Amino acid sequence: GKSLKISIIGAGSAVWSTRILVDIMLKKNLQGAKVYLMDIDEDRLKLVYLFAKRYASEIHADVEFHATTDRIEAIRDSAFVINSAMAKGHRYYEMMREATERKGYYRGINSVEWNMVSDYHTIWGYYQFKLAVSIARDIEEYAPDAWLINVANPVFELTTLLSRITKVKNIGICHGHMEFWNIVRELRLDPSKVEAEMSGFNHVIWLTRFKYDGLDGYELIDKWIKEEAEKYWRKWWATTSNPFDIQLSPAAVDMYLKYGMFPIGDTVRGGTWKYHWNLETKKKWYGPYGGPDSEVGWALYTTYLAYQMEMIKGFVQAESAPLTMLIPPKPSGEQVIDITESIAADVLRKYQVNILNNGLIPGIPDNVAVEVPAVIDGQGVRRISVTPPNNRVLKHVLLPRMMRMEWALHAFLEPSKDALLEWLMYDVRTRSVSQAEEAIDAMLKLPGNEEMAEVFK
Ligand code: NAD
Repeated sequence: GKSLKISIIGAGSAVWSTRILVDIMLKKNLQGAKVYLMDIDEDRLKLVYLFAKRYASEIHADVEFHATTDRIEAIRDSAFVINSAMAKGHRYYEMMREATERKGYYRGINSVEWNMVSDYHTIWGYYQFKLAVSIARDIEEYAPDAWLINVANPVFELTTLLSRITKVKNIGICHGHMEFWNIVRELRLDPSKVEAEMSGFNHVIWLTRFKYDGLDGYELIDKWIKEEAEKYWRKWWATTSNPFDIQLSPAAVDMYLKYGMFPIGDTVRGGTWKYHWNLETKKKWYGPYGGPDSEVGWALYTTYLAYQMEMIKGFVQAESAPLTMLIPPKPSGEQVIDITESIAADVLRKYQVNILNNGLIPGIPDNVAVEVPAVIDGQGVRRISVTPPNNRVLKHVLLPRMMRMEWALHAFLEPSKDALLEWLMYDVRTRSVSQAEEAIDAMLKLPGNEEMAEVFK
Protein backbone atom coordinates (compact mmCIF):
# COMPACT_ATOMS: atom_id res chain seq x y z
CA GLY A 1 0.00 0.00 0.00
CA LYS A 2 1.32 3.35 -1.17
CA SER A 3 -0.41 5.43 1.49
CA LEU A 4 -0.39 2.92 4.31
CA LYS A 5 0.68 4.52 7.57
CA ILE A 6 1.96 2.46 10.47
CA SER A 7 2.92 4.05 13.77
CA ILE A 8 4.98 2.50 16.52
CA ILE A 9 4.51 3.99 19.99
CA GLY A 10 7.41 3.21 22.31
CA ALA A 11 9.61 2.68 19.24
CA GLY A 12 12.73 2.89 21.40
CA SER A 13 11.88 -0.51 22.92
CA ALA A 14 15.00 -2.62 22.89
CA VAL A 15 13.29 -5.96 22.35
CA TRP A 16 10.72 -4.96 19.78
CA SER A 17 11.56 -2.19 17.39
CA THR A 18 14.51 -3.43 15.42
CA ARG A 19 12.88 -6.79 14.71
CA ILE A 20 9.49 -5.29 13.86
CA LEU A 21 11.12 -2.75 11.56
CA VAL A 22 13.07 -5.43 9.72
CA ASP A 23 9.84 -7.44 9.36
CA ILE A 24 8.11 -4.42 7.77
CA MET A 25 10.98 -3.84 5.34
CA LEU A 26 10.95 -7.48 4.25
CA LYS A 27 7.24 -7.53 3.35
CA LYS A 28 6.51 -7.05 -0.35
CA ASN A 29 2.96 -6.13 0.54
CA LEU A 30 4.11 -3.31 2.81
CA GLN A 31 6.49 -1.61 0.37
CA GLY A 32 5.60 2.07 0.01
CA ALA A 33 4.41 2.26 3.61
CA LYS A 34 5.12 5.24 5.85
CA VAL A 35 6.32 4.25 9.30
CA TYR A 36 6.15 6.76 12.15
CA LEU A 37 8.43 5.99 15.07
CA MET A 38 7.31 7.65 18.30
CA ASP A 39 8.99 7.70 21.70
CA ILE A 40 9.53 10.22 24.49
CA ASP A 41 13.19 9.21 24.78
CA GLU A 42 14.89 11.24 22.04
CA ASP A 43 18.18 9.34 22.14
CA ARG A 44 16.55 5.97 21.71
CA LEU A 45 14.23 7.36 19.06
CA LYS A 46 17.11 8.76 17.05
CA LEU A 47 18.99 5.49 17.33
CA VAL A 48 16.06 3.40 16.08
CA TYR A 49 15.40 5.91 13.30
CA LEU A 50 19.01 5.80 12.08
CA PHE A 51 18.90 2.02 12.28
CA ALA A 52 15.73 1.86 10.18
CA LYS A 53 16.94 4.30 7.52
CA ARG A 54 20.24 2.55 7.06
CA TYR A 55 18.79 -0.95 7.15
CA ALA A 56 16.29 0.06 4.44
CA SER A 57 19.05 1.34 2.21
CA GLU A 58 21.13 -1.80 2.80
CA ILE A 59 18.35 -4.11 1.67
CA HIS A 60 16.77 -1.64 -0.80
CA ALA A 61 13.44 -1.57 0.98
CA ASP A 62 10.92 1.03 -0.12
CA VAL A 63 9.67 2.12 3.32
CA GLU A 64 9.63 5.72 4.49
CA PHE A 65 10.58 6.41 8.11
CA HIS A 66 9.72 9.37 10.31
CA ALA A 67 10.71 9.95 13.90
CA THR A 68 8.65 12.08 16.27
CA THR A 69 8.07 12.71 19.95
CA ASP A 70 4.57 13.92 19.13
CA ARG A 71 2.15 11.03 19.63
CA ILE A 72 -0.69 12.66 17.73
CA GLU A 73 1.50 13.32 14.70
CA ALA A 74 2.42 9.62 14.74
CA ILE A 75 -1.11 8.32 15.20
CA ARG A 76 -3.03 10.69 12.90
CA ASP A 77 -4.49 8.72 9.94
CA SER A 78 -2.55 5.55 10.77
CA ALA A 79 -4.00 2.27 9.60
CA PHE A 80 -2.03 0.43 12.30
CA VAL A 81 -0.75 1.55 15.65
CA ILE A 82 1.69 -0.79 17.38
CA ASN A 83 2.16 -0.18 21.09
CA SER A 84 5.38 -1.38 22.72
CA ALA A 85 5.70 1.45 25.22
CA MET A 86 6.49 0.81 28.85
CA ALA A 87 5.87 3.79 31.07
CA LYS A 88 8.89 4.79 33.16
CA GLY A 89 11.02 1.83 32.14
CA HIS A 90 12.61 -1.14 33.85
CA ARG A 91 14.53 0.80 36.50
CA TYR A 92 11.36 2.35 37.89
CA TYR A 93 9.79 -1.05 38.34
CA GLU A 94 12.87 -2.40 40.07
CA MET A 95 12.45 0.47 42.52
CA MET A 96 8.85 -0.55 43.18
CA ARG A 97 9.93 -4.14 43.62
CA GLU A 98 12.72 -3.27 46.06
CA ALA A 99 10.53 -0.93 48.12
CA THR A 100 7.89 -3.60 48.67
CA GLU A 101 10.40 -6.43 49.08
CA ARG A 102 11.75 -4.54 52.08
CA LYS A 103 8.27 -4.94 53.62
CA GLY A 104 8.30 -8.70 53.20
CA TYR A 105 6.96 -9.17 49.68
CA TYR A 106 9.55 -11.24 47.82
CA ARG A 107 9.70 -10.12 44.14
CA GLY A 108 7.29 -7.27 44.95
CA ILE A 109 3.56 -6.92 45.63
CA ASN A 110 2.78 -7.20 41.92
CA SER A 111 4.07 -10.80 41.74
CA VAL A 112 1.21 -13.11 42.70
CA GLU A 113 -0.26 -16.49 41.81
CA TRP A 114 -0.19 -17.06 38.01
CA ASN A 115 1.55 -13.77 37.37
CA MET A 116 5.18 -13.88 38.42
CA VAL A 117 6.41 -12.25 35.19
CA SER A 118 8.65 -9.41 36.33
CA ASP A 119 7.59 -6.70 33.86
CA TYR A 120 3.90 -7.57 33.78
CA HIS A 121 2.53 -4.79 35.92
CA THR A 122 -0.98 -5.10 37.25
CA ILE A 123 -1.87 -3.67 40.65
CA TRP A 124 0.95 -1.10 40.53
CA GLY A 125 0.59 -0.49 36.79
CA TYR A 126 -1.08 2.91 37.11
CA TYR A 127 1.19 4.74 34.66
CA GLN A 128 1.27 1.86 32.19
CA PHE A 129 -2.54 1.55 32.15
CA LYS A 130 -2.91 5.31 31.82
CA LEU A 131 -0.47 5.41 28.90
CA ALA A 132 -2.27 2.62 27.01
CA VAL A 133 -5.64 4.32 27.54
CA SER A 134 -4.29 7.67 26.29
CA ILE A 135 -2.90 6.01 23.17
CA ALA A 136 -6.32 4.45 22.55
CA ARG A 137 -8.04 7.83 23.10
CA ASP A 138 -5.73 9.41 20.49
CA ILE A 139 -6.63 6.63 18.08
CA GLU A 140 -10.36 7.22 18.67
CA GLU A 141 -9.87 10.86 17.81
CA TYR A 142 -7.19 10.89 15.10
CA ALA A 143 -7.33 7.46 13.47
CA PRO A 144 -10.69 5.90 14.35
CA ASP A 145 -10.37 3.14 11.74
CA ALA A 146 -6.90 2.06 12.87
CA TRP A 147 -6.07 -1.30 14.39
CA LEU A 148 -4.19 -1.16 17.65
CA ILE A 149 -1.78 -4.06 17.95
CA ASN A 150 -0.63 -4.12 21.53
CA VAL A 151 2.51 -5.97 22.55
CA ALA A 152 3.08 -3.91 25.70
CA ASN A 153 2.39 -5.79 28.89
CA PRO A 154 0.23 -6.54 30.75
CA VAL A 155 -1.47 -7.89 27.61
CA PHE A 156 -4.28 -9.61 29.57
CA GLU A 157 -5.22 -6.52 31.59
CA LEU A 158 -4.70 -4.02 28.74
CA THR A 159 -6.67 -5.97 26.13
CA THR A 160 -9.56 -6.34 28.55
CA LEU A 161 -9.42 -2.70 29.64
CA LEU A 162 -9.14 -1.18 26.15
CA SER A 163 -11.86 -3.44 24.76
CA ARG A 164 -14.20 -2.47 27.57
CA ILE A 165 -13.76 1.28 27.77
CA THR A 166 -12.67 2.39 24.26
CA LYS A 167 -14.02 1.91 20.74
CA VAL A 168 -10.61 1.00 19.34
CA LYS A 169 -10.21 -2.26 17.42
CA ASN A 170 -7.42 -3.87 19.37
CA ILE A 171 -5.51 -7.14 19.38
CA GLY A 172 -3.12 -8.22 22.12
CA ILE A 173 -0.10 -10.18 20.97
CA CYS A 174 2.45 -12.29 22.83
CA HIS A 175 5.15 -14.60 21.53
CA GLY A 176 4.97 -17.02 24.47
CA HIS A 177 2.91 -19.63 22.63
CA MET A 178 5.83 -20.34 20.28
CA GLU A 179 7.59 -22.13 23.15
CA PHE A 180 5.34 -25.08 22.30
CA TRP A 181 7.76 -25.95 19.49
CA ASN A 182 10.42 -26.72 22.11
CA ILE A 183 8.25 -29.63 23.21
CA VAL A 184 7.96 -30.81 19.62
CA ARG A 185 11.72 -30.60 19.20
CA GLU A 186 12.56 -32.36 22.47
CA LEU A 187 10.10 -35.17 21.71
CA ARG A 188 11.77 -35.43 18.28
CA LEU A 189 8.45 -35.07 16.43
CA ASP A 190 7.97 -34.08 12.81
CA PRO A 191 6.41 -30.58 13.03
CA SER A 192 4.35 -31.15 9.88
CA LYS A 193 2.42 -33.95 11.63
CA VAL A 194 1.63 -31.88 14.72
CA GLU A 195 -1.83 -30.45 15.37
CA ALA A 196 -2.01 -28.29 18.44
CA GLU A 197 -4.20 -25.71 20.06
CA MET A 198 -3.64 -23.53 23.11
CA SER A 199 -6.10 -21.39 25.00
CA GLY A 200 -6.63 -19.53 28.26
CA PHE A 201 -5.49 -16.03 29.21
CA ASN A 202 -2.28 -14.32 28.17
CA HIS A 203 0.60 -15.94 30.07
CA VAL A 204 -1.84 -18.57 31.28
CA ILE A 205 -2.37 -20.73 28.20
CA TRP A 206 -2.70 -24.49 28.16
CA LEU A 207 -2.22 -27.14 25.51
CA THR A 208 -5.90 -27.96 25.07
CA ARG A 209 -5.51 -30.09 21.96
CA PHE A 210 -2.49 -32.08 20.86
CA LYS A 211 -2.49 -34.65 18.05
CA TYR A 212 0.47 -36.27 16.39
CA ASP A 213 -0.10 -38.01 13.11
CA GLY A 214 -3.76 -38.29 14.09
CA LEU A 215 -2.95 -39.92 17.47
CA ASP A 216 -3.14 -38.52 21.01
CA GLY A 217 -0.03 -36.37 21.49
CA TYR A 218 -0.39 -36.41 25.25
CA GLU A 219 0.54 -40.10 25.26
CA LEU A 220 3.90 -39.06 23.83
CA ILE A 221 4.35 -36.48 26.58
CA ASP A 222 3.50 -39.10 29.23
CA LYS A 223 6.03 -41.47 27.73
CA TRP A 224 8.70 -38.73 27.69
CA ILE A 225 8.04 -37.93 31.36
CA LYS A 226 8.32 -41.59 32.32
CA GLU A 227 11.34 -42.51 30.26
CA GLU A 228 13.33 -39.38 29.47
CA ALA A 229 12.54 -36.48 31.80
CA GLU A 230 15.09 -37.35 34.50
CA LYS A 231 17.90 -37.64 32.01
CA TYR A 232 16.84 -34.44 30.27
CA TRP A 233 16.77 -32.52 33.56
CA ARG A 234 20.25 -33.69 34.58
CA LYS A 235 21.73 -32.44 31.32
CA TRP A 236 19.64 -29.26 31.36
CA TRP A 237 20.78 -28.37 34.90
CA ALA A 238 24.39 -28.78 33.93
CA THR A 239 24.31 -27.00 30.58
CA THR A 240 21.47 -24.49 30.20
CA SER A 241 22.61 -20.90 29.77
CA ASN A 242 19.18 -19.32 29.38
CA PRO A 243 16.89 -18.62 32.37
CA PHE A 244 13.90 -18.67 29.98
CA ASP A 245 14.62 -22.29 29.00
CA ILE A 246 11.83 -23.73 31.19
CA GLN A 247 9.22 -25.17 28.83
CA LEU A 248 10.15 -28.72 29.95
CA SER A 249 11.30 -27.81 33.46
CA PRO A 250 10.19 -29.75 36.54
CA ALA A 251 7.74 -26.87 37.16
CA ALA A 252 6.05 -27.40 33.78
CA VAL A 253 5.76 -31.16 34.29
CA ASP A 254 4.48 -30.72 37.85
CA MET A 255 1.82 -28.29 36.61
CA TYR A 256 0.80 -30.77 33.93
CA LEU A 257 0.49 -33.61 36.44
CA LYS A 258 -1.45 -31.37 38.83
CA TYR A 259 -3.81 -29.59 36.44
CA GLY A 260 -4.13 -32.21 33.69
CA MET A 261 -3.05 -30.03 30.78
CA PHE A 262 0.41 -28.86 29.74
CA PRO A 263 1.23 -25.19 30.49
CA ILE A 264 2.77 -23.36 27.51
CA GLY A 265 5.31 -20.54 27.35
CA ASP A 266 5.08 -17.85 30.02
CA THR A 267 2.42 -19.92 31.81
CA VAL A 268 5.25 -22.00 33.25
CA ARG A 269 6.67 -18.83 34.84
CA GLY A 270 3.47 -18.51 36.90
CA GLY A 271 1.87 -21.01 39.20
CA THR A 272 1.14 -20.73 42.88
CA TRP A 273 3.76 -19.88 45.51
CA LYS A 274 4.56 -23.58 45.58
CA TYR A 275 7.10 -22.81 42.84
CA HIS A 276 8.21 -19.38 44.03
CA TRP A 277 8.65 -19.02 47.83
CA ASN A 278 12.29 -18.08 47.54
CA LEU A 279 15.30 -18.50 45.29
CA GLU A 280 15.97 -22.02 46.52
CA THR A 281 12.41 -23.10 45.66
CA LYS A 282 12.59 -21.42 42.30
CA LYS A 283 15.84 -23.24 41.50
CA LYS A 284 14.31 -26.57 42.37
CA TRP A 285 11.54 -26.02 39.84
CA TYR A 286 13.14 -23.80 37.20
CA GLY A 287 16.79 -24.76 37.11
CA PRO A 288 20.10 -23.13 38.02
CA TYR A 289 18.93 -19.50 37.60
CA GLY A 290 15.61 -20.01 39.34
CA GLY A 291 13.87 -19.16 36.06
CA PRO A 292 13.55 -15.76 34.38
CA ASP A 293 11.70 -14.15 37.29
CA SER A 294 14.09 -14.85 40.13
CA GLU A 295 16.48 -12.12 41.23
CA VAL A 296 19.19 -13.98 39.29
CA GLY A 297 17.25 -14.65 36.07
CA TRP A 298 15.72 -11.17 35.86
CA ALA A 299 19.07 -9.46 36.40
CA LEU A 300 20.44 -11.51 33.52
CA TYR A 301 17.51 -10.53 31.31
CA THR A 302 17.73 -6.79 31.99
CA THR A 303 21.49 -6.93 31.47
CA TYR A 304 20.88 -8.67 28.17
CA LEU A 305 18.43 -5.93 27.11
CA ALA A 306 20.97 -3.22 27.93
CA TYR A 307 23.63 -5.16 26.03
CA GLN A 308 21.33 -5.44 22.98
CA MET A 309 20.87 -1.70 23.08
CA GLU A 310 24.63 -1.14 23.18
CA MET A 311 25.12 -3.53 20.27
CA ILE A 312 22.59 -1.61 18.17
CA LYS A 313 24.26 1.65 19.17
CA GLY A 314 27.69 0.30 18.27
CA PHE A 315 26.57 -0.87 14.84
CA VAL A 316 24.71 2.34 14.05
CA GLN A 317 27.66 4.50 15.11
CA ALA A 318 30.23 2.43 13.24
CA GLU A 319 28.91 3.51 9.89
CA SER A 320 30.85 0.93 7.98
CA ALA A 321 29.41 -2.13 9.77
CA PRO A 322 26.48 -3.58 7.82
CA LEU A 323 23.36 -3.72 10.00
CA THR A 324 22.35 -6.97 8.30
CA MET A 325 25.23 -8.52 10.25
CA LEU A 326 23.53 -7.53 13.49
CA ILE A 327 20.03 -8.55 12.44
CA PRO A 328 19.94 -10.78 9.36
CA PRO A 329 17.25 -9.91 6.79
CA LYS A 330 14.95 -12.78 7.77
CA PRO A 331 11.45 -12.67 9.28
CA SER A 332 11.68 -12.53 13.08
CA GLY A 333 8.91 -15.07 13.60
CA GLU A 334 6.88 -12.51 15.57
CA GLN A 335 3.21 -12.23 14.61
CA VAL A 336 2.87 -8.44 14.68
CA ILE A 337 3.82 -7.59 11.10
CA ASP A 338 2.30 -10.77 9.65
CA ILE A 339 -0.98 -9.63 11.18
CA THR A 340 -0.53 -6.15 9.73
CA GLU A 341 -0.02 -7.73 6.31
CA SER A 342 -3.03 -10.05 6.73
CA ILE A 343 -5.31 -7.09 7.38
CA ALA A 344 -3.73 -4.58 4.97
CA ALA A 345 -3.32 -6.96 2.01
CA ASP A 346 -6.07 -9.49 2.80
CA VAL A 347 -3.77 -12.46 3.41
CA LEU A 348 -5.65 -15.06 5.42
CA ARG A 349 -3.64 -16.78 8.17
CA LYS A 350 -4.16 -18.30 11.59
CA TYR A 351 -2.72 -16.58 14.67
CA GLN A 352 -2.68 -16.76 18.45
CA VAL A 353 -4.35 -13.57 19.68
CA ASN A 354 -5.86 -11.88 22.72
CA ILE A 355 -9.45 -10.72 22.15
CA LEU A 356 -12.63 -10.55 24.23
CA ASN A 357 -14.00 -13.96 25.11
CA ASN A 358 -17.58 -13.44 23.87
CA GLY A 359 -18.50 -17.05 24.54
CA LEU A 360 -15.34 -18.78 23.31
CA ILE A 361 -14.38 -20.32 26.67
CA PRO A 362 -17.36 -21.45 28.77
CA GLY A 363 -17.25 -20.23 32.36
CA ILE A 364 -15.39 -17.02 31.46
CA PRO A 365 -17.42 -13.79 31.12
CA ASP A 366 -17.82 -12.33 27.63
CA ASN A 367 -15.98 -9.11 28.47
CA VAL A 368 -12.72 -10.74 29.57
CA ALA A 369 -9.83 -11.08 27.11
CA VAL A 370 -8.81 -14.64 26.27
CA GLU A 371 -5.77 -15.85 24.35
CA VAL A 372 -6.97 -18.12 21.58
CA PRO A 373 -6.31 -19.12 17.99
CA ALA A 374 -8.11 -16.93 15.45
CA VAL A 375 -8.09 -16.30 11.71
CA ILE A 376 -7.15 -12.84 10.40
CA ASP A 377 -7.61 -11.38 6.91
CA GLY A 378 -8.75 -8.14 5.27
CA GLN A 379 -11.98 -8.29 7.23
CA GLY A 380 -10.17 -8.36 10.54
CA VAL A 381 -10.17 -11.00 13.27
CA ARG A 382 -12.45 -13.97 12.75
CA ARG A 383 -13.14 -16.12 15.81
CA ILE A 384 -12.97 -19.87 15.39
CA SER A 385 -14.24 -22.41 17.87
CA VAL A 386 -11.63 -23.36 20.44
CA THR A 387 -11.04 -26.32 22.69
CA PRO A 388 -11.40 -24.89 26.20
CA PRO A 389 -9.06 -25.68 29.11
CA ASN A 390 -10.31 -28.38 31.45
CA ASN A 391 -12.39 -27.79 34.55
CA ARG A 392 -9.41 -28.03 36.91
CA VAL A 393 -7.57 -25.29 35.01
CA LEU A 394 -10.71 -23.18 34.84
CA LYS A 395 -11.42 -23.33 38.58
CA HIS A 396 -7.92 -23.31 40.02
CA VAL A 397 -6.06 -21.17 37.53
CA LEU A 398 -8.17 -19.06 35.19
CA LEU A 399 -10.83 -17.86 37.62
CA PRO A 400 -8.36 -16.83 40.36
CA ARG A 401 -6.15 -15.11 37.75
CA MET A 402 -9.20 -13.36 36.35
CA MET A 403 -10.03 -11.95 39.79
CA ARG A 404 -6.56 -10.39 40.02
CA MET A 405 -7.13 -8.79 36.60
CA GLU A 406 -10.51 -7.45 37.75
CA TRP A 407 -8.99 -6.07 40.96
CA ALA A 408 -6.21 -4.33 39.05
CA LEU A 409 -8.68 -2.76 36.57
CA HIS A 410 -10.97 -1.77 39.41
CA ALA A 411 -8.09 -0.12 41.27
CA PHE A 412 -7.20 1.80 38.11
CA LEU A 413 -10.75 2.86 37.22
CA GLU A 414 -11.96 3.58 40.77
CA PRO A 415 -8.68 4.34 42.51
CA SER A 416 -8.37 4.36 46.30
CA LYS A 417 -5.65 3.34 48.70
CA ASP A 418 -8.07 0.79 50.06
CA ALA A 419 -8.23 -0.99 46.69
CA LEU A 420 -4.45 -1.41 46.86
CA LEU A 421 -4.60 -2.63 50.46
CA GLU A 422 -7.31 -5.15 49.69
CA TRP A 423 -5.00 -6.72 47.09
CA LEU A 424 -2.55 -7.46 49.89
CA MET A 425 -5.20 -8.80 52.24
CA TYR A 426 -5.45 -11.78 49.86
CA ASP A 427 -1.69 -12.19 49.61
CA VAL A 428 -0.18 -15.23 51.33
CA ARG A 429 2.88 -13.13 52.29
CA THR A 430 0.83 -10.68 54.38
CA ARG A 431 1.27 -11.27 58.12
CA SER A 432 -0.45 -8.15 59.43
CA VAL A 433 -2.49 -5.19 58.30
CA SER A 434 0.33 -2.82 59.21
CA GLN A 435 2.77 -4.75 57.02
CA ALA A 436 0.41 -4.27 54.07
CA GLU A 437 -0.10 -0.58 54.85
CA GLU A 438 3.62 0.01 55.12
CA ALA A 439 4.23 -1.66 51.77
CA ILE A 440 1.64 0.50 50.01
CA ASP A 441 2.94 3.67 51.70
CA ALA A 442 6.53 2.84 50.79
CA MET A 443 5.48 2.41 47.17
CA LEU A 444 3.43 5.61 46.97
CA LYS A 445 6.27 7.63 48.52
CA LEU A 446 8.78 6.71 45.82
CA PRO A 447 10.11 9.50 43.63
CA GLY A 448 8.14 9.39 40.36
CA ASN A 449 4.98 8.23 42.13
CA GLU A 450 3.72 11.69 43.16
CA GLU A 451 0.78 11.57 40.74
CA MET A 452 -0.03 7.99 41.71
CA ALA A 453 0.00 8.93 45.42
CA GLU A 454 -2.40 11.77 44.69
CA VAL A 455 -4.76 9.45 42.77
CA PHE A 456 -4.64 6.59 45.32
CA LYS A 457 -5.34 8.72 48.38
P1 NAD B 1 11.82 -0.62 27.18
O1 NAD B 1 11.73 0.24 28.38
O2 NAD B 1 13.16 -0.97 26.62
O3 NAD B 1 11.03 0.07 25.97
C1 NAD B 1 9.86 0.78 26.17
C2 NAD B 1 9.93 2.09 25.39
O4 NAD B 1 8.75 2.83 25.71
C3 NAD B 1 11.13 2.99 25.77
O5 NAD B 1 11.86 3.35 24.61
C4 NAD B 1 10.48 4.18 26.42
O6 NAD B 1 11.16 5.40 26.21
C5 NAD B 1 9.12 4.19 25.75
N1 NAD B 1 8.12 4.98 26.47
C6 NAD B 1 7.94 5.14 27.80
N2 NAD B 1 6.95 5.99 28.05
C7 NAD B 1 6.48 6.39 26.84
C8 NAD B 1 5.45 7.29 26.44
N3 NAD B 1 4.72 7.97 27.33
N4 NAD B 1 5.23 7.46 25.13
C9 NAD B 1 5.97 6.81 24.21
N5 NAD B 1 6.97 5.96 24.53
C10 NAD B 1 7.21 5.76 25.84
O7 NAD B 1 11.01 -1.92 27.48
P2 NAD B 1 11.06 -3.35 26.74
O8 NAD B 1 11.84 -4.28 27.56
O9 NAD B 1 11.41 -3.17 25.33
O10 NAD B 1 9.54 -3.78 26.85
C11 NAD B 1 8.50 -3.05 26.23
C12 NAD B 1 7.17 -3.71 26.51
O11 NAD B 1 7.07 -4.95 25.79
C13 NAD B 1 6.97 -4.08 27.98
O12 NAD B 1 5.64 -3.79 28.35
C14 NAD B 1 7.22 -5.56 28.00
O13 NAD B 1 6.58 -6.20 29.08
C15 NAD B 1 6.63 -5.97 26.69
N6 NAD B 1 7.02 -7.29 26.18
C16 NAD B 1 6.07 -7.98 25.52
C17 NAD B 1 6.33 -9.24 24.98
C18 NAD B 1 5.24 -9.94 24.20
O14 NAD B 1 5.45 -11.05 23.70
N7 NAD B 1 4.08 -9.35 24.02
C19 NAD B 1 7.62 -9.77 25.11
C20 NAD B 1 8.59 -9.04 25.78
C21 NAD B 1 8.28 -7.79 26.31
